Amino acid sequence: MSRVLVIGAGGVGHVAVHKMAMLPDVFDDIHLASRTVSKCHAIAESVLERTGVTISVDSIDADDVAATVALIERIEPDVLVNLALPYQDLTLMEACLQTGTPYLDTANYEPPDEARFEYSHQWNLHERFRDAGIMAVLGSGFDPGVTSVFATWARKHLVSGIRQIDILDCNGGDHGHPFATNFNPEINIREVTAPARHWEHGRWVESPAMTTSVAFDFDQVGERNAYLMYHEELESLTTHFPEIERARFWMTFGDAYINHLTVLQNVGMTGIEPVLYNGHEIVPLQFLASVLPAPEGLGERTTGKTNIGDIITGPAIDGSGEKTVYIYNVCDHEACYAEVGSQAVSYTTGVPAMIGAALMVQGVWSGSGVYNTEQLDPDPFMAMLNEHGLGWQVAELDGPVTF
Ligand code: NDP
Repeated sequence: MSRVLVIGAGGVGHVAVHKMAMLPDVFDDIHLASRTVSKCHAIAESVLERTGVTISVDSIDADDVAATVALIERIEPDVLVNLALPYQDLTLMEACLQTGTPYLDTANYEPPDEARFEYSHQWNLHERFRDAGIMAVLGSGFDPGVTSVFATWARKHLVSGIRQIDILDCNGGDHGHPFATNFNPEINIREVTAPARHWEHGRWVESPAMTTSVAFDFDQVGERNAYLMYHEELESLTTHFPEIERARFWMTFGDAYINHLTVLQNVGMTGIEPVLYNGHEIVPLQFLASVLPAPEGLGERTTGKTNIGDIITGPAIDGSGEKTVYIYNVCDHEACYAEVGSQAVSYTTGVPAMIGAALMVQGVWSGSGVYNTEQLDPDPFMAMLNEHGLGWQVAELDGPVTF
């Protein structure tokens, strides 16, 4: 039995809170707080309707450490689950440190004025969390999150080390809009317009955004173009598994998405520097995000499936030579919508956030300090994925990837 405080009533928060309410033996007291309290009320109504569970709601500005400390002191949660934006990671971690509260998030901190994901800001808090005797788990979504747990699980059960890893993220869904993003538009566009970076033989190799792609045949989705990108788990995986020679991240995008994004970039609408408009400073990307379809509204119109997983090559654990395995999950947008009223991108992030929080409050994942998911025991997490809507499969491939 535990009390959880979720911050952030967006697409991911919606799913995580519904899934927590479906596990009353683990989460018997659920609180949701966010900047716009009406969004919390809407989620609370849906949770009551679908599960019969009543959750409490609050409004909070998570950039305000003192206000967040006061909220935490009133609620006294066993864990704070940060499903707001990456910009709030540091203030929420600070509030957790000041109140002795365990912390979990799904995305690494990014300074608002600099589109560069980097774990250093959060890893720098390791000693403070360790000395306070509390645990922070970083990146417990799908990618990062499940993709790192897949790697750890493979390293524990199939290969004695990882020589190379390719993470492939395919969203084969169709929402019918000419252009929309499946999670927060501002964060999504910052991520895909940043230069691509991958790890090769002990150094980062950088290339211009969206210039390297491969056609890959995804199980239950079909062939899609996957683009080389930077993604934050490349930094943590190569840090924690230093034997990795090459680590790459690929994400699929359709031609319509690429065409729209190219135009928007060319005309300056994806910029993050403020511009003066009618006497007001506005950030072009934030304005663009405000006119794009809201990700939480895509669920009812999205069909198709996501397929996300890791292709890992390394020495077989039984000494039988080199082995290449592909571990992945396929998730159906319409099935997610039927279950919790969200599309699969929010679902595949919200479920692992719930699982990470469940393992923390039950003491299955424990420790003092700041951890990434690949540093923790993968087995209970993998078992819960199968039980809570994100079943996975493993295929042995003939050899390492050739692209
Ligand atoms: P949304 O934009 O849908 O939701 C974010 C929520 O956070 C909104 O309700 C927003 O409030 C709230 N919020 C923003 N700023 C503050 C603040 N200062 N104080 C309190 N609340 C605030 O985003 P998503 O649900 O799509 O994504 C949530 C997180 O999950 C993001 O960090 C994203 O990067 C991460 N993510 C991780 C993935 C993974 O696989 N690891 C995949 C997808 C997303 P308001 O409603 O007022 O705007």
